Amino acid sequence: MLAVTVDTEKLDYDIHSLIKAFYPEETVKVISPSTDNEKAEDLKKHLFMDIVLKGSKQRIAFYVMDSEGKLRLDREVPFLIENMLEDNEHPKKEGKNLFKSRLYQSLREYSGKSLPWGNLTGIRPTKIAMGMLSSEKSHEEISKFMEEAHFVSREKTELSIEIANRERQLLAPLHGKEGYSLYIGIPFCPTTCLYCSFTSYPICAYEELVDRYIECLCGEMDYVAGAYRGKALDSVYIGGGTPTTLSAERLERLLSHLEKTFDLSKLLEFTVEAGRADSITKEKLKVIKSHGVSRISINPQTMKEETLKLIGRRHTVEQVKEAFFLGRDMGFDNINMDLILGLPGENAEDVAGTVSEVEKLNPDSLTVHSLAVKRASKLREWILQNGMEYLQNTEETMAIAAEGAKAMNMHPYYLYRQKNMTGNLENVGYAREGKYGVYNILIMEEVQTIMALGAGSISKILLPEGRIERADNVKDVRLYIEKFDEMLKRKSALFQLQKDEGWLG
Ligand code: SF4
Repeated sequence: MLAVTVDTEKLDYDIHSLIKAFYPEETVKVISPSTDNEKAEDLKKHLFMDIVLKGSKQRIAFYVMDSEGKLRLDREVPFLIENMLEDNEHPKKEGKNLFKSRLYQSLREYSGKSLPWGNLTGIRPTKIAMGMLSSEKSHEEISKFMEEAHFVSREKTELSIEIANRERQLLAPLHGKEGYSLYIGIPFCPTTCLYCSFTSYPICAYEELVDRYIECLCGEMDYVAGAYRGKALDSVYIGGGTPTTLSAERLERLLSHLEKTFDLSKLLEFTVEAGRADSITKEKLKVIKSHGVSRISINPQTMKEETLKLIGRRHTVEQVKEAFFLGRDMGFDNINMDLILGLPGENAEDVAGTVSEVEKLNPDSLTVHSLAVKRASKLREWILQNGMEYLQNTEETMAIAAEGAKAMNMHPYYLYRQKNMTGNLENVGYAREGKYGVYNILIMEEVQTIMALGAGSISKILLPEGRIERADNVKDVRLYIEKFDEMLKRKSALFQLQKDEGWLG
């Protein structure tokens, strides 16, 4: 464990994220003035860093344990940021950025390593490039800023700018505030994957609730379609969980209700995440195809049999191939595949093997995830028993995937990061020209209202000046059904906000 003391509030998140990025295998605890005294004293036994930002003796000090088990000061960095704090407590934006830069530099020097994304800890590193492109800044100006102010590597800077340019082009045909997108969540899966932190329940244990769940989804569809009549529906994404865990009959009921409730005539994209190969059948794909779905996702995550077993997916590599060819035979000309790098026990050779198998299938897009260790996943337990050293994700493995995507004629078009990602790297979506998934950009860039239906989904509405308001549906399937009226009320509050702004009739 690494404990850090700091004499102010409000910077806990930034301090925690940056130290965790340098030391991913460690638990990081930040002790601020509001931390309970007893707890603070206990945590200080693991003191790693002491940050003083108030008064004239500002500094960052590093501590180590000596051979007798006593803490001693190891290194001290003077640290002056004048006017860093506003009202003595709230960091000003510039002061906060300066603080993050100094903290990054100190950690880099102390640990002897640099991070590919420098001091950027947010989920959308492309946001800086997007913002600067909108302000007519040149490629060189953006590069300089990202590299000098945020210590981002040349390679990641170039990737951010390339993606930001492509995103701007892809978002152009959307209806912006005159339109919206729809997400429908199916929170059931055949089994639960080791790393899963999504709203997902094994379908066999929830069988008796599935029909009522679909009824509620249909009810939410009616409600949203009624409120947004006259607005253009740009994209629909059915995700989860695994939507294809539903039987062909249930998929038919869901999709035909969608079709009769919404005006789909302006739809730019309609995705169903078929996800797990063990849930895909000819009948289901036939239903999906008959309702105009333009894009499906068949996700192997890895093409190594042993890993598939270890992560609890209960399908084979052969089943992934069969599902993919079935999709092609059924006429799907836009199939995405998801991969995860850094899976337990996998090395660069395994990733190269997976990428080479995927290349043989030749999907239309590829989403490359860096494994993220989520608190709610079984993976955390696995790490406690087996150690972090079996999770290897490096720039080398990311480069193998990027090369594979390039060989399939794909271009990177969206990127995001999550907390606790192996290798402190990123997730990147690649696609061939004309096969991009615009919903994936929307969810990241927050430039359009997304109405989300189903347990655990989060609706986000766009308001003037790019403001976003959100409403969550409860995660638990039973509660979602029981509190269905409450879910509608939450949506109604969002509609009212748009009405107040004159954005909804
Ligand atoms: S398929 Fe996805 S949602 Fe389902 S258990 Fe696996 S990670 Fe979770």
